Amino acid sequence: MNNSNSIDFSSPFWKAKYLLIDSRLLTAPSQTIFFALKGIKRDGQSFVEELYNKGVRKFVVTSDFDEGYKYKNAEFIYCLNTLDTLQKLTQYHRLQYPNLPVISITGSNAKTIVKEWLYSILEIDRNVVKSPKSYNSQIGVPLSVWQINEKHDLGIFEAGISKPNEMQHLASIIQPTIGLFTNIGSAHDKHFTSLEQKVKEKGSLFNHCDYVIYCKDHQLIDAEMQTKSCTCVTWGYDQTASISIKKIDNYAVNVIYKNTDYTLHIPFTDAASFENAMHCATMMVHLGYNFSEINNRIGKLKSIPMRLEKKEGIQQTTLINDFYNNDLGGLQIALSFLAQNQEHKTRTLILSDLLQGDTDKSALYQKVYELCNEHEITRFIGVGKQLQAHQELFKGLKTTFFKDTKALRKAIKNKSITFSKELILLKGARQFEFEKVAALLQKKIHSTQLEINLDAVTHNLMFYRSLLHSSTKTMVMVKALGYGSGKTELANTLQYNLVDYLGVAFADEGVELRENGIRTPIMVLTPSPDSFETMRMHQLEPEIYSIEMLNALEQYLEEEDTETAFKIQLNFDTGMHRLGFTEEELPYLFQALDRLKNKVKVTGVFTHLAGADEDIHDLYSKEQIKSFRKTTALLEKNIGYTVIKHCLNSAGIVRYPDAQMDMVRLGIGLHGIEVNGMKQEDLHTVATLKTVIAQIKVMNTGDTVGYSRKGVVNGERKIATIGIGYADGFDRRLSNGVGKVVINGYLAPIIGNVCMDMSMVDITDIPAEVGDEVIIFGRSRSISTIAKEINTIPYEILTSISQRVKRVYYMEG
Ligand SMILES: *Cc1c(COP(=O)(O)O)cnc(C)c1O
Repeated sequence: MNNSNSIDFSSPFWKAKYLLIDSRLLTAPSQTIFFALKGIKRDGQSFVEELYNKGVRKFVVTSDFDEGYKYKNAEFIYCLNTLDTLQKLTQYHRLQYPNLPVISITGSNAKTIVKEWLYSILEIDRNVVKSPKSYNSQIGVPLSVWQINEKHDLGIFEAGISKPNEMQHLASIIQPTIGLFTNIGSAHDKHFTSLEQKVKEKGSLFNHCDYVIYCKDHQLIDAEMQTKSCTCVTWGYDQTASISIKKIDNYAVNVIYKNTDYTLHIPFTDAASFENAMHCATMMVHLGYNFSEINNRIGKLKSIPMRLEKKEGIQQTTLINDFYNNDLGGLQIALSFLAQNQEHKTRTLILSDLLQGDTDKSALYQKVYELCNEHEITRFIGVGKQLQAHQELFKGLKTTFFKDTKALRKAIKNKSITFSKELILLKGARQFEFEKVAALLQKKIHSTQLEINLDAVTHNLMFYRSLLHSSTKTMVMVKALGYGSGKTELANTLQYNLVDYLGVAFADEGVELRENGIRTPIMVLTPSPDSFETMRMHQLEPEIYSIEMLNALEQYLEEEDTETAFKIQLNFDTGMHRLGFTEEELPYLFQALDRLKNKVKVTGVFTHLAGADEDIHDLYSKEQIKSFRKTTALLEKNIGYTVIKHCLNSAGIVRYPDAQMDMVRLGIGLHGIEVNGMKQEDLHTVATLKTVIAQIKVMNTGDTVGYSRKGVVNGERKIATIGIGYADGFDRRLSNGVGKVVINGYLAPIIGNVCMDMSMVDITDIPAEVGDEVIIFGRSRSISTIAKEINTIPYEILTSISQRVKRVYYMEG
């Protein structure tokens, strides 16, 4: 057994292309080392068998793993801590490239975007290796650094931490030579005692750097960096900054650098993008580029979001639009996202040339072909001269090639290439401008849209799981269109994350999930007896909650020849008084179950708490739980087998950890709303509802705005009409100043009555133009805040968003 300090990382065992920590991402078994990490709910070691059967032969496990002898020809490294071994291995790997300059980026925000921008700017004349997506954690950093090979002449890696003492591990793996500190948020997280401590911890990434780049106007960062031995290369309004800003006129930024005047052209006006672009410009100055080249390259950075989006496409297609840079690593991530989506049989990849520095293009495109095969791509459309020249490599697929984006667009327009009922992944390098292809393939979006962050969904799921015992199962409720966010999409993400059960309200919803490739067990809350047959055919488990329902079930089963038992769940009413069997009905229930014992299998039994989210109902909730325990014991005794017992909703999971039993039922919490108000800061915002400004008017005293002339103007006011109304689910109770929206970071109150498709807001003093984005809710304004303003609950706000509002799904890491 090995302490990782005594492992010889130069031994042949460690020669491998891929380090795998997530069995679902396996691509090339023979070139993979699997690290069995201990996760919150799962022990990586339980995947050894599956991976061995798929051909993996190298495993790193902990010393308690005693099944190694079962696997012929497999090699095992036993150690104390697999994560530590992963980190030490990649630290060793980095040491093999002592002359490689490495930029490392940290800060509270914008690490990923600055990294991706720097990559776009620098890969033009350098061979850059970078973190995929936002791989900046204790696991992400080692996986990023492992990609370094002898061809690279620059590394760009991000590093993120959430707790003290984490940065030293990341610094020892990345071993950066140039640092970039983006910024520091105004609040310190709960794990840090102060903002200063957080800056110090993050800044420790740069202890051994030669140079560090940052904005000198961030005083805390500046104070901390001055304590280090590295050279500070700074920008800012501060006159002592290396690049000091004198004046900004539109997009022209007049600066002084080494006593000389220069002008930088920064193509952004919003503060965040401006800051990010200035970091990039300063990095280029430091790397020795001249100002005209800097302006040339910065000018090409468009404010395209760095993310992966999923939208409804034309002809019943689903479009996945990937905005990340197009390299092999990015392609692999996009393809594994594709693998989570099962709704179409045809899986199409539209790919542009990969503009990465590899000189051996045949080998590069051979790898692309292999990735396509591994991820079950059925149709391949290549765009660009390189792909065209290598088309014989893709013989096994249904293919079409175009020399450039223009040719592809033309073919789509004149219908010489068509799409129907397929899942399409669009992945193009920046200069191929695939957004123009996306514009042709996506369903036209009426300006109002609901954006769903699938990474936040996963984060929230993991958070609730972290509160559960390792044996407790999770059911996620995706009723009411997945609380308004789209049940199929959520179900795909949840299935991928191995949720144990899904809950829907009606049989039809369950059928739709089955038709879209969802295999997870599903419970139907309010089934109607005429759908028993449908449910049985689709393996949906009805909730049986009353004597009438039970009789209907018995009658249905009498007429059926059942070979396999029909799975059902039972609801006991312990105090919600909505649905469920009462105590008096139990003898009848038990007799019926006895008659049906060969035809029915009770998989689960549950109850629902009436006041799990409020302290004042604590005693009542505990009584409910107690009575449920009693009744379920009686049930199991009567039917003679154990069933899955569950009683907690999202609020209950937080409040009653002792009542988790065999399963919990997660609902609103998945959407980032913690109704107890106890754990809100641990959750991420999932949904953002946005629209745009349609028109702006200046009005004066005496003018009125909207129906019934309710919006009375006082003094000179600037009024914007925005593209959302009550028919979109924008509640009419928000009229007349009750509600507010966010425009360019400012709060704008509603003036007058909310109309059917539009509303008016007061934007006096807010810099805004027609077409600017308007946030109804999202990170900057919570659903809970809006709910309070109109005396309702967040559930109603979320589920009221009408069907005509297009849903857009994205992942941003
Ligand atoms: C909707 C629902 C849940 C989930 O409730 P949340 O408060 O959203 O967590 C759990 N159980 C049942 C029976 C439900 O109907």
